[in-house]
Amino acid sequence: MRSVVVVGAGLGGLSAAVQLAAAGREVTVVEAMGEPGGCCGTARVGAYRFDTGPSVLTMPGVLAEIFGAADQDLRHWLPLRRLDPSYRMVFDDGSRLDVRAEREAMAEQVRTVCGPAEAARYERYRRLLDELFRVEWPAFIDADMTRLRGLARPAALLRLAALGGFRRLDRLAARHLTDPRLIKAHTFQSLYVGLSPQRALGIYAVIAHMDTVGGVYFPERGGMHAIPAAMAALLDKLGAGIRYGVRARRVETDGDGVTGVLLEDGERLPAGHVVVACDRLAARRLLPALADDWRLRRPRHSPSCLVIHAGLERSLPDQAHHTLHFGRAWRETFTALAAGRPQPDPSLLVTCPEPDDGHATLSVLEPAPNLRRADWGRLRPELEARLLRRMAELGYGDLSGAPRLVLDPPAWAARGHTAGTPFALDHRFTQTAWLRPSAVARRVPGLHFAGMYTAPGVGVPPVLISGRLAAERILKEAR
Ligand SMILES: Cc1cc2nc3c(=O)[nH]c(=O)nc-3n(C[C@H](O)[C@H](O)[C@H](O)COP(=O)(O)OP(=O)(O)OC[C@H]3O[C@@H](n4cnc5c(N)ncnc54)[C@H](O)[C@@H]3O)c2cc1C
Repeated sequence: MRSVVVVGAGLGGLSAAVQLAAAGREVTVVEAMGEPGGCCGTARVGAYRFDTGPSVLTMPGVLAEIFGAADQDLRHWLPLRRLDPSYRMVFDDGSRLDVRAEREAMAEQVRTVCGPAEAARYERYRRLLDELFRVEWPAFIDADMTRLRGLARPAALLRLAALGGFRRLDRLAARHLTDPRLIKAHTFQSLYVGLSPQRALGIYAVIAHMDTVGGVYFPERGGMHAIPAAMAALLDKLGAGIRYGVRARRVETDGDGVTGVLLEDGERLPAGHVVVACDRLAARRLLPALADDWRLRRPRHSPSCLVIHAGLERSLPDQAHHTLHFGRAWRETFTALAAGRPQPDPSLLVTCPEPDDGHATLSVLEPAPNLRRADWGRLRPELEARLLRRMAELGYGDLSGAPRLVLDPPAWAARGHTAGTPFALDHRFTQTAWLRPSAVARRVPGLHFAGMYTAPGVGVPPVLISGRLAAERILKEAR
């Protein structure tokens, strides 16, 4: 049984490594940074600790399954709590809606904010989301897409078409809901996959299902970074090694496929299988020419984001964990981002994880154009100043003197993200499922890929799944 090297200790790489180590494979993970997590990272500014990536976990069952593969109970490693509300949405007219996962509680919210007729429509739409999710998850999300036949599921495709999955997301929602606020609450998630609700397909309504119906979770201790930390600790228990602070320089091959990985420090790790779980475009220089994938010829990246993390010497007692502030110019937001311009009146995501001990950390994320589309040398001072002003207008006070960390597209690029976006390729139809860069290099036996550049795509549950799928393929291969 030959060893496996995983390049990248982001959530995709860690997921693959845990499954392989749990199945008895000898596994080494190579990570360029000094700690695990990749996008799900952490940073300190003075006394304050911030999560630099995801702010919530959806579909915790996916993570539980990974721990389960190693006969471990996620609850012992990483106690989670469900957030209530999942999100607070504040609209440009000052009204607000708390998104609650429980059906009755959410219907009540809709009844209060949008009226009883809309609440009845909401209940019907929620049933549609349930059904879309039930069909889509096993057939196209939690499923291997490395072969075209992965798409050949006529019954599921027909059902999705009947449910409106191939209409545009905004039209699908507007067919069922009438209150523009509720429509926004169920379509803004297309931003997560780099598209506008006018462009994304209705199948992406499943993201709204994952967070508005499935609920959002957060580790009891240690913030989101506790997730990769727990996975790395599990790997340690399973006897796998993680090499931090060293980059993979080249995946080595002979006529029969991969033979190992050469590290930047000159060490060579022999391997019969390699899982490359990092930025797929940057990884091209590690790979033999035979690993080229035609799907990467014209990559279309997602927009990026400007994030300000600030430490406050006060608590924010009434602040929800997650607040979405919608700007007035909603449609224009997407037109601008698509054209490489900042949003005219930005919609923002504010996260305030532990607001009540006299101190708080506040993170605000503004979706913004990536490096391919905009000149950030010019934009950065302007946008940072505008974001600080906007936060003050929204009642968060003057953050300009607060200890803070700012992450903009050049900072994402410095962390290894092509085009300065940590959201990889967008999820337009031609970059989805089998059409997304393949998770296997057929002409280089033993070479697999995981992470957000492969199917199912961007986000914590999808990259965890991609790692599991890579491990399952490897365990089936007789190399
Ligand atoms: C600000 C932000 C907010 C987000 N919010 C959410 C959210 O709320 N919910 C959600 O589900 N998702 C969210 N996401 C998306 C989610 O975090 C990512 O899709 C996911 O974590 C990506 O994981 P990955 O393993 O594919 O890649 P990465 O996390 O990028 O991991 C790749 C790893 O490979 C390493 N590496 C690169 N090159 C080499 C090399 N040559 N040798 C060795 N190591 C190398 C990198 O250092 C990195 O650690 C967010 C992301 C960001 C940035």
